Amino acid sequence: MKKRSSELQTKVCLQIYHLFAQAQLNSKLADKYVKLARKLAMKFNLPLPRELKRKFCNHCYTYFQDGNYRVRTRDKNVVYYCLTCKKYMRFPKKLPPSK
Ligand SMILES: [Zn+2]
Repeated sequence: MKKRSSELQTKVCLQIYHLFAQAQLNSKLADKYVKLARKLAMKFNLPLPRELKRKFCNHCYTYFQDGNYRVRTRDKNVVYYCLTCKKYMRFPKKLPPSK
């Protein structure tokens, strides 16, 4: 397998973080920024960082902000409920140790 330039990956990763930072600042454009960040990650075949995955809905890609989502715990999992598409996302409460 050919080794990818890690420099480029770092650049893309930073850009993704930047897009999410923008999303936080512009609530009206937040969904757009989420879509851009996802596209960028897919283009470079990068996984979205774990902490960013929880910031938007996995079904309709709505950025989670005031009042459009709920967080509950159920069976030792953290459950995010998206009020836009009325779907749930489950995350294990205890994160597996990173390799
Ligand atoms: Zn949703």
